[in-house]
Amino acid sequence: MRTRDLEKYRKLLMEERERILESIKEHEAQIRQYDEIEGRVHSNHMADQGTDEFRHEQAIRLLQSENRYLYRIEDALQRVEDGTYGKCELCGKAISTQRLTAIPYTRLCIECAEKEDAKRG
Ligand SMILES: [Zn+2]
Repeated sequence: MRTRDLEKYRKLLMEERERILESIKEHEAQIRQYDEIEGRVHSNHMADQGTDEFRHEQAIRLLQSENRYLYRIEDALQRVEDGTYGKCELCGKAISTQRLTAIPYTRLCIECAEKEDAKRG
């Protein structure tokens, strides 16, 4: 892959990383806030606990998937550094620029991704 193209994807990945880090911070704050409310609720039996618990679980789930996503992005950035970015991990062919622009953290070309999907059923 040309250096200019690599730079483009690096920038794309960095922006995505910034965005996801912001979102993670937000959800972590939400969870912390809930933990504080939870502490108070136990002492005075107030607040709508059901709704809070739901929001809390939702925030935790979001945080987990965001962390997985962040991992994929950092992994892709590492591949940019290594010079292996844009190459399919299974067949070694170049991943199309169209696919990389849509999913900059992908490790597989479209054919291999479809095969993997089919395997998982
Ligand atoms: Zn492939």
